[in-house]
Amino acid sequence: MPKNATTLEITYTGIPASPGIAVGPIHVSARGFSAPEIYEISEEEISYERTRFDEAVAVTKKQLIDLQERLESLSGNADSEIFEAHVMLLEDKTLLDKVAAAISDRQQNAEFAFYAVMQNFLEAMRRIPDPYLRERTADIEDVCQRVLRNFKVDEDSGHEAPDGTHILLAYDLSPSDTASMNRRHLLGFATEQGSVNSHTAILARSFGIPAVVGLGASLIQVTTLTPAVIDGYAGKLILNPRPETLAKYAALTLEKEKRSTELDAKRGEATETLDGKKITLSANIEFLDELHQVKHSGAKGVGLYRTEFLLLNGSEMPDEAEQTEAYTRVANEVSPDLVIVRTLDAGGDKLPVEPLTEPEPNPFLGWRGIRVSLSRPAMFRDQLRAILRASQHGKIAVMFPLVSGLSELLQAREALKRCMEELNAEGVPFDPKIPVGVMIEVPSAAVCADLLAPHVDFFSIGTNDLIQYTVAVDRVNPHVANLYKPTHPAVIRLIGKTVEAGSEHGIWTGVCGEMAGDIRLTPLLIGLGVQELSVSPKIVPKVGQVIRSLDFSQCEATAKEALRTSGSRAIMDLTLAVARERYPDLLD
Ligand code: PEP
Ligand code: MG
Repeated sequence: MPKNATTLEITYTGIPASPGIAVGPIHVSARGFSAPEIYEISEEEISYERTRFDEAVAVTKKQLIDLQERLESLSGNADSEIFEAHVMLLEDKTLLDKVAAAISDRQQNAEFAFYAVMQNFLEAMRRIPDPYLRERTADIEDVCQRVLRNFKVDEDSGHEAPDGTHILLAYDLSPSDTASMNRRHLLGFATEQGSVNSHTAILARSFGIPAVVGLGASLIQVTTLTPAVIDGYAGKLILNPRPETLAKYAALTLEKEKRSTELDAKRGEATETLDGKKITLSANIEFLDELHQVKHSGAKGVGLYRTEFLLLNGSEMPDEAEQTEAYTRVANEVSPDLVIVRTLDAGGDKLPVEPLTEPEPNPFLGWRGIRVSLSRPAMFRDQLRAILRASQHGKIAVMFPLVSGLSELLQAREALKRCMEELNAEGVPFDPKIPVGVMIEVPSAAVCADLLAPHVDFFSIGTNDLIQYTVAVDRVNPHVANLYKPTHPAVIRLIGKTVEAGSEHGIWTGVCGEMAGDIRLTPLLIGLGVQELSVSPKIVPKVGQVIRSLDFSQCEATAKEALRTSGSRAIMDLTLAVARERYPDLLD
C-alpha cells in the first residue's frame, strides 16, 4: 500500500441499487477525459516523476503560448484570452504543489497523480452553483488532456499496471455511462446521486454489478486506489475496510453463492403457486449479450426488450436491416418462448433519439416514448417493419411505451397496419397475428384501461413510470426517493383497475417494472390478478421460488385487504407479512 494512506475504516450508507458484494480499489470516475495508466513508484523514483511532471507542464505551456500568438495574429487579441487563462492554471502553485505531494505521498506515477488531483478539482468546480464557472470545467478538461498527452513515456520503466479491476466512484452516472462501462474491469459502483429506479440502477441489476446510489455525502476527496467494499444488499460503501470487515463480507459472499446455487437447481420447475395458479415468469433485457443469462435463468421468454439501448451503438437508431437482425436473433434464441419487443422509449433519463436544440425543462413529461415514435414516422416505420420481419423467425409481440390514451394507441396501431400492408405487397413474410400490447405506465392509461383493452392483446404495467407519474415523484431524484412508494394506495388501485379491465376484455396483464422483481410485493401483485412478471434475468430463479411458495387464495385475500387500506406502510406490511411467512430466507 502506498505510504501515508489512511487506514481508518469509514462507512457511507446510501440506497441499495443492485445486490452483491464487491471488494477492490476505488477508481474515481473520469468525467470528460479518461484515466491514464497507474502504477506505484519507489522512493528513489519520486524526483524523476516530479521532473516528468514539470516537463509535461512546461511543454504544454509552450504550446498554449504558441497557440495564443497564432490566434492573436489572425484575429486581434480578444479571443486569445482563453489561452492566457489556461496558462495561468498551469502556473497555479496550489495545484502544482498538490500534484507534487501526490507523487511523493501516494507514490504514484506523475500522470496519474496529476489526473487524480485534477479530477477532484474539476468535481469541486462542477458543484459551484454558478453556471459560468461550471462551464469553465470544459476548458480545464482540455488543458488536462493536453498535459496528459505531453508526458514523456519511458518505455522501459518496468512498471506494470494493475489488472484494472476497480470499484467506480462517481458523482452520478447516466444510463449510457453505465451501459458503455468496461464490465470486465468493473467490480461495482457507488454514486452520490441516483435512485433505485433510474435506468442506471436497472442496468446494474441486469449486469449483476453490485451498486449503491444516492450516497448523498460528498465523496470528492476520496482518492483513486483507496481500498473499498460495496455492500449492494445493505447499500453501503466502506472505505479502508478492516480485516474483520473483509472476513465478514467474504463469509456473506459464500452464503449468497450457496443460496444462488440452490435456487439455480430449481430453475426448470414450473412457476405456479401451491394451489395451482400459473404465473408466467419472463425476463427484461436491454442488450443481446444478456440472452445467455435469460436462457440460464429458466425465464419463460422476454417480457420486455428495451430497444432504446440500440441507440448506444451510434448516434441514431440502426436501420431496418440492422434492427431486423437484432430482433431475429432474440426471437431465435428465445424460441419457442415469446419475446415482447418494446418500441423505442427514448428520452426521459435515457438517450434522446436525436440531439435536442434545447434541454427539456421536464424530460420525463416531455418528448419520450410513443410521442417520439409518432412524430418520427420514418424511424417508427423502420422499427415496426423490422419487428414484423423478425416475427417469422420466432414468437414476437410488439408493445408501445408511454401511451397516455386511446388516440396514441390507435395511431401506433395504424402505423403497424400500414407496415403490414407494405410487407404484404412486397411479399415479405411476417406473423400477421403478431400480438400487440400496450404499456400501462401513465396514470391516464391505467384509468382508461377499459378503453384501451379492446385494441390490444395484453397489458404490461410499467410500474417504474406509473409510480413516478401517479405520486408525482421523479424516479431518478434522490431528494424525493423516500416519497417514491410502490405500495401507495393510488398505485395499487391503478394496478387493480388495469388487471380488472384486462380480464373483462379477455386479455392478460403483466408487470415489467421493478415492482415485479421486488419479492416483498409478489403476494400483492399476484393477488391483484397479475398473470405475468418480467424481471431482471439475475433474479428469475429467486422470483420463481417465491411464486412456488405462495398460496393464491391467501394472495387474493391480501390484495383485497390492501385495496381497502389507506396507507403505503400498512399495505407494505400486509404483503410483507405473507412474504415473511412463506419465504423468510429469500428476503435479503
Ligand atoms: C417502467 O416504467 O416500469 C418500465 C418497465 O419502463 P422503463 O423502466 O424502461 O421506463
Ligand atoms: Mg417506463
